[in-house]
Amino acid sequence: MTDADERLWRMGLEVVRKLQERGFEAYLVGGCARDRLLGRPLHDVDVATSAHPEQVAASFERVIPTGLQHGTVTVMHEGTPFEVTTYRTESGYSDARRPDSVAFVRDIREDLARRDFTINAMAAGLEGEWIDPYGGREDLSACIVRCVGDADRRFGEDALRMVRAIRFAAAFRFRLAKSVWRGIRSQAQRLRFVAMERIGAEWDKMMAGADPDRACRLLARSGLMAHLKEPLPAGLKAGMLAYRTAAEVGPKLRDIADTDARWIAWLSRCGAEPEEAVRFCRTIRLSGKREARIGQGVAFARRMAVSPGDRATFITAVLDFGKPAASDWLAAIGAGTGNGHGHAALLKCLEELPADSVRQLAVRGDELARHWDRPAGPWVAKVLRSLLEEVAFGRLPNDNAALLRAAEAFKES
Ligand code: ATP
Ligand code: MG
Repeated sequence: MTDADERLWRMGLEVVRKLQERGFEAYLVGGCARDRLLGRPLHDVDVATSAHPEQVAASFERVIPTGLQHGTVTVMHEGTPFEVTTYRTESGYSDARRPDSVAFVRDIREDLARRDFTINAMAAGLEGEWIDPYGGREDLSACIVRCVGDADRRFGEDALRMVRAIRFAAAFRFRLAKSVWRGIRSQAQRLRFVAMERIGAEWDKMMAGADPDRACRLLARSGLMAHLKEPLPAGLKAGMLAYRTAAEVGPKLRDIADTDARWIAWLSRCGAEPEEAVRFCRTIRLSGKREARIGQGVAFARRMAVSPGDRATFITAVLDFGKPAASDWLAAIGAGTGNGHGHAALLKCLEELPADSVRQLAVRGDELARHWDRPAGPWVAKVLRSLLEEVAFGRLPNDNAALLRAAEAFKES
């Protein structure tokens, strides 16, 4: 717990105090209460209160009406946002998606009852008191993810909770309670009711989290992946199961610093083709930018799979897929981390590459066209690419006169 976390927690308690001064109840709840007990960094601090949204709004100077219909108001306190939500229950779940209705309630315990896991259903008060009706603290010390109430029923209400259970187990290195695992096995088919972006957001958090290898293995073993609303590419589903044995092929995903490089490593090791990787990213609703990056990284990995240490293959791949893809692939195989199986040489090769894109050449396309007084056309791109290869492989210096001279030979071919 850093000073910044300590400060954030205290600021949250000030929001609590202000509400109490106006005669309302208020507590810090959910992820922040859990992370506080775990001594983990806090990312956002949520407040639950007996005050209704308009009463919350009237209690602070700067508020944003974030989700009024769900009872949530964002309070700005000393420049930091705090989500303040009125005690509420949820009911309905006629489609295992979102509750049909939410109702405000008077008791914090009722609010805690709607929450997914015991470790997420604790509330911390101003005086250091904890409201913990479901034994969240006990489960925290026992390192166990357990549902609030009956797992089957809770997963039936909102099937996303099955994916969240796996996320928390992997993030905290916790076990799943037997009832949770049984609940997942029996309710897995209800995952098809859950919007892909909700699943994608959880999966991406898992990939960014403490132990993505374990998360992906649990996801594969749980059978959940067979029940997505939008199916995964068939090859990938099989690859996910086989992945368990693939740990020797590179670093553990958690030892790769960047989340997208982790996706690239995981997808490649599952045997995904580049177009399958792109389709996968689209299915789980990663942004277009990340989809493109991951796709290029997987394409790079695919190219290198045949002769992983080969310098010439590597350089050509850099020219075909770009330097960022090369860096991602090197990160994915663990170059620079001490377990990159001799790929340190390729890392060095990338750093020393005289040029990796035609934009870096000391000659421009329009210059070539003018030089031979020829209309620009596809021939320009071809000549530039040939020049780039010569420069990248160190056969030609990257200077204007030398390039124009060499272009002579390429322009006719
Ligand atoms: P993280 O630290 O990763 O954000 P979190 O526990 O804060 O984890 P959020 O998705 O931010 O997770 O949700 C905040 C709180 O809301 C949870 O701690 C939990 O109490 C409750 N919650 C969130 N999603 C659900 C759900 N699908 N079903 C029941 N309760 C939920
Ligand atoms: Mg949170």
